[in-house]
Amino acid sequence: MTEELETLVARYRAGGGVEGLPARHFIGGEWSPSASGRTMESLDPGTGQPFHRFASGDAGDVDRAVRSADAALKGAWSRVSPAARGAVLARAAILIREAGPRLAFAETLDSGKPLQEAEGDVQGAARCFEYYSGLPDKLEGRTLPLGPDHLGYTSWEPIGVTAHIIPWNYPLSTFARGIAPALAAGCTVVARPAEQTPLTALMLAEILMQAGLPAGVLNVVTGTGVETGAPLVAHPLVRQVTFTGSTATGIEVMRAAARNVTSVLPELGGKSPVVVLHDTDLDAAVDGVIGAIFENAGQICSAGSRLVVERAVHADMLERLVARARAIRIGHGLRRPDMGPITSAEQRARIAAFVDGARARGLEIATGGHAVTDPATGLGWFYEPTIIDRVPVDDPIAQEEIFGPVLAVQVVEDAEEALAVANSTRFALVAGVYTRDFSAAHDLARRIDAGQVYINEYFAGGIALPFGGNRMSGFGREKGVDAVRTYMKLKSVAARVSSGR
Ligand code: NAD
Repeated sequence: MTEELETLVARYRAGGGVEGLPARHFIGGEWSPSASGRTMESLDPGTGQPFHRFASGDAGDVDRAVRSADAALKGAWSRVSPAARGAVLARAAILIREAGPRLAFAETLDSGKPLQEAEGDVQGAARCFEYYSGLPDKLEGRTLPLGPDHLGYTSWEPIGVTAHIIPWNYPLSTFARGIAPALAAGCTVVARPAEQTPLTALMLAEILMQAGLPAGVLNVVTGTGVETGAPLVAHPLVRQVTFTGSTATGIEVMRAAARNVTSVLPELGGKSPVVVLHDTDLDAAVDGVIGAIFENAGQICSAGSRLVVERAVHADMLERLVARARAIRIGHGLRRPDMGPITSAEQRARIAAFVDGARARGLEIATGGHAVTDPATGLGWFYEPTIIDRVPVDDPIAQEEIFGPVLAVQVVEDAEEALAVANSTRFALVAGVYTRDFSAAHDLARRIDAGQVYINEYFAGGIALPFGGNRMSGFGREKGVDAVRTYMKLKSVAARVSSGR
């Protein structure tokens, strides 16, 4: 832990509060209060106590931010060369790493996640800006063979003002993976972080200005989804919406954007299977499943929330998983526990309702199954690491996204049945496959409906791996080189060049 981080943590834990956290919108390169003057409370999920207040905006604040982004799109940002755009992103990556301790501290307070996970998210965000920094001067068009009398070519242009709706589970990472390619493409941005976790988006906006972004290119408006998210995605000057959140809200967002024929990239929910075949390296599979469901207390769209396991190894796997789940230390994120709290009291209540329903239906709760508090303080919104065994395919525990530390175990007879069970929900975001059989692994990878399949290492890859869902998990892809095209429009030019001879 750096000295700076140690001081921040020690001061907070001694009841000294936190200084210097952003509290206003970031519009046109300046900190700006809500026109209404209203503010909202930040709550620390590890204690359930308030620690900060920030601006609660409305449609008027959103309109100011969008107009500022529109002016920058037509003005200062349009005059910055692609190479210079790349240089801003490269500097941002350096500054994000320098600000790492403060960013990780704020992310842990806002979201509750263990400090070591927040530190990982900071590195991931920096890597994202680094990755896209090399692209702007390589976004080439093509020439088109129209024959001797014509010249034809294509060019890629920035799509315009982009809106980014960010959820509370990975505020830093989701901000970076959407905004870095949008800026690389030459777009301007209005970001709307979730009301539970607004701090790091505001901090990143300031860091990007320090890296050389002209005023107005990146704006951040904070407040509730209804009061700020809804007017943002419905704003006629917005040309692209990148939405990360639940399927239900994503459908509302697509409906609102459709009125302006605005494109939407919906990154929605998941109920991802981890298939474990009988021949697998069980140690690796147990490690993989534990990380897939208990990292970030299971609040991950791509969490491996269903273990689809062949009967031959079911009992062995279950015994090891239960032992590992029981050994997980929970606690306040700043104490670097194995697992932190749930980000909000409402989300913990949702998780509890799912598990209580399963218990009432007579399902076998192998371990966990209770809302708890931090053993050190008796405070906070925690939920025990939970494993529910032999969940029928049509049970809500196997079908619905719980978004918490709850693993559904589904027992199958062979790889063919594993495939059918893997594909048995309306979601299709991610899948894991654990086996030593190379052919079986790639056969499953081909036939499982998912945006990405991890073989023998869940969550393998990074920013270079395109990411997104199929069916009710969404469409389009973030991350990877091609994601930049989400933020561009293609222009074709055809000219008559014949001399007439
Ligand atoms: P949510 O749908 O409730 O909210 C998502 C975001 O939308 C929040 O910022 C919220 O304030 C905002 N919002 C709410 N109403 C809105 C409206 N009418 N118009 C515009 N914005 C509005 O989801 P959540 O509970 O914050 O996040 C959890 C969900 O996000 C889960 O379903 C999870 O799977 C999904 N998620 C998906 C990905 C992915 O990449 N596919 C990543 C992270 C989370």
